[in-house]
Amino acid sequence: MNEVKTKVLIIGSGPAGYTAAIYAARANLKPILVAGLQKGGQLTITTDVENYPGFADAIQGPWLMEQMEKQAKNVGTEIVNDMIKSVDFSKRPFVCKSDDGTTYIADTVIISTGASANWLGIPSEKKYMGKGVSACATCDGFFFSDQKVAVVGGGNSAVEEAMYLAGIAKEVVLIHRRDKLRCEPILADRLFNNDKISVIWNSEVDEILGDDNGVNGLKLKSKTDDSLSQIDLNGVFIAIGHSPATGIFKDSGLEMDEQGYLIVEKGTPKTNITGVFGAGDVADKTYRQAVTAAGLGCQSALEAQKLLESE
Ligand code: NAP
Repeated sequence: MNEVKTKVLIIGSGPAGYTAAIYAARANLKPILVAGLQKGGQLTITTDVENYPGFADAIQGPWLMEQMEKQAKNVGTEIVNDMIKSVDFSKRPFVCKSDDGTTYIADTVIISTGASANWLGIPSEKKYMGKGVSACATCDGFFFSDQKVAVVGGGNSAVEEAMYLAGIAKEVVLIHRRDKLRCEPILADRLFNNDKISVIWNSEVDEILGDDNGVNGLKLKSKTDDSLSQIDLNGVFIAIGHSPATGIFKDSGLEMDEQGYLIVEKGTPKTNITGVFGAGDVADKTYRQAVTAAGLGCQSALEAQKLLESE
């Protein structure tokens, strides 16, 4: 059995994980980062990134993540292509076992396993991903200036995305499967008072239509009478929730909310277990941006360093 000791174990390889690694490595903590299944995280499935500071022109998401990985390596992080499959946080040092049979004995653990958008699961959604289909208005809304777009969902995210897009697009259609929104009433009021936004109730997306240039319409199915209708538009934003990657921590003693997001002390990445930190989307369902995840990764490494120094 392969046993590895480390002062800082980082689980996950998105902006939070790599930033934690950069800070921990530069503090001479010799971190080990276990990358997980989708190395680089959510940014590896996007194309143009225009909102990560430091780059005057658009950059590619996969390229940005390669750079973060190289930077983390260059300053001394050991990056392992493996997956943590079980953890024991009942006492320190913590014990984390990986898929390839390695046991990591870690003084501190930074969890940056991220979250992923929920998708409708229809084939055309995959086909036009990045060509008019998106799950992030803040990331991709800019590309639809003066065009018509749809948002699917009826929760806070869908309504906020619709209002954000209304500031950019010519027209926004919110498509919801029921006749009542799930979002907070104040958000619903703002939505209904926005002239650029209309709502199609009791409807589901049956198919996303398009051609070589990307999305050009939606086929909708009524939930009340199964009738089909079609609308022309240029983009569709799926906002039907996110799922944090916290399955392996279910019985670890870590506090999570009802959706599985890690609960951290306000304004810090500290979980309820001393020495375990939560950074990035796994502990943040509100902002969910690469730059905010990076900031939380930085905070985690600084907190891990502070704890280790105090001991
Ligand atoms: P959410 O509250 O779970 O809402 C998801 C929406 O998507 C629901 O309206 C749901 O419909 C719909 N939906 C789910 N699966 C669907 C499917 N397969 N097809 C069509 N529609 C589907 O998710 P969220 O809006 O991402 O919010 C997640 C959490 O973050 C919530 O607790 C929310 O309050 C919080 N949040 C807060 C803020 C804020 O405070 N400003 C902003 C964003 C998010 P039904 O209504 O029929 O179930």
